[in-house]
Amino acid sequence: MTVRGGREFLVIPGPTTVPDEVLQAMHRPAVDIYSGPLIALTDSLFADLAKIFRTAGRAYVYIANGHGAWEAALTNVLSRGDKVLVLESGRFARAWGDAAAKLGCEVETLAGDWRRAVRPAEVGARLRADEAGRIKAILAVQIDTASGVVNDIAAIGAAIKAARHDALFMVDAVASLGCMPFEMDAWGVDVAMSGSQKGLMTPPGLSFVAAGARARAVHETADLRTPYWDWTAREGDVHYQKYAGTPPEHLMFALRRALDMLLAEGLDNVFLRHRLLAEAVRRAVDVWSQGQAIGFNVIEPSERSDTVTTVLMGDGRDPRPLVDYCNKKCGVVLGIGIGDLSGKAFRIAHMGHVNAPMVLGTLGVIEVGLNALGIPHGSGGAQAAIDWLGEQVTA
Ligand SMILES: *Cc1c(COP(=O)(O)O)cnc(C)c1O
Repeated sequence: MTVRGGREFLVIPGPTTVPDEVLQAMHRPAVDIYSGPLIALTDSLFADLAKIFRTAGRAYVYIANGHGAWEAALTNVLSRGDKVLVLESGRFARAWGDAAAKLGCEVETLAGDWRRAVRPAEVGARLRADEAGRIKAILAVQIDTASGVVNDIAAIGAAIKAARHDALFMVDAVASLGCMPFEMDAWGVDVAMSGSQKGLMTPPGLSFVAAGARARAVHETADLRTPYWDWTAREGDVHYQKYAGTPPEHLMFALRRALDMLLAEGLDNVFLRHRLLAEAVRRAVDVWSQGQAIGFNVIEPSERSDTVTTVLMGDGRDPRPLVDYCNKKCGVVLGIGIGDLSGKAFRIAHMGHVNAPMVLGTLGVIEVGLNALGIPHGSGGAQAAIDWLGEQVTA
């Protein structure tokens, strides 16, 4: 038997749950792309995106996923043979670096591991050793969606500044923008990128790059530039130039509605909501881990992200039966482990359009699954999450 009827909970770290209001915003005919309200919509989106990245620089909108925005970011500021330093902390910075290598850059990886965040002091030391200034860009992620780690972008930015190094600081904020603070200008970030389908609650298909003044200066001489990604081409006065062709109208309607929802809630409350719900998840996992069979992937509590929690299965236990049980029996779709954690972990996303019942329902179902499958675990994980929220969310 199953108890699956009713609304399915999508708990994978992207795409995330799209609010009904955002879906409805797309349900309308296409409009003129040469005049009328679409022009003002473009202006409002570009302005609000720069506001959300917290930059006085420019934002660019691509009809692409995060991988496209990675390529857009790289090709606009780098040249063939440029050396790039990748700060490893899981899968995604490394994958961004792989794209740079395929484009013709020389890639060096500052080795990290999948269970800890980047150490800013190690970044500073590597840059000070680069006396000839060969490193042209540093690639980092704010939240690595595979490992569940959050990197301290402010501290890495400060370490780069203290090393007096000229490399551009480029940050992937796909799994964090709109979920936790990101201060592009204040933290010394030169290029940042993100996608529509995670914290920004919009269907997949749009991605964003923000560029500061230093990045736009380097852009002038970058030789990896291509017509579609090129910032200069997209700065033309004609409306369609901003998208290098037909604007993605329906995704723009959706994004407008999603940004309105985030701004109406207030970004500070959005960030606090993520922090409280993430901690509820962590309280549950902490209790479950007392059974010794499962535990956090990220070892240091302060390095666990507020958007995704990666849970390791011990003793070579396959997470698949639990993930299948939650999905097929109960209608909760958990994330599977990816990359080095494939077959070893599952992931609980708490990113974007999430609230207390969604998180508590998810935790309750995981606990049902742990019991039903006889996976050893400390009992009372969901109760610990309930207790935490009851203490924090006061009347
Ligand atoms: C999802 C994700 C990406 C890739 O985005 P796609 O839209 O799947 O190409 C890149 N970086 C991070 C941190 C992500 O979470």
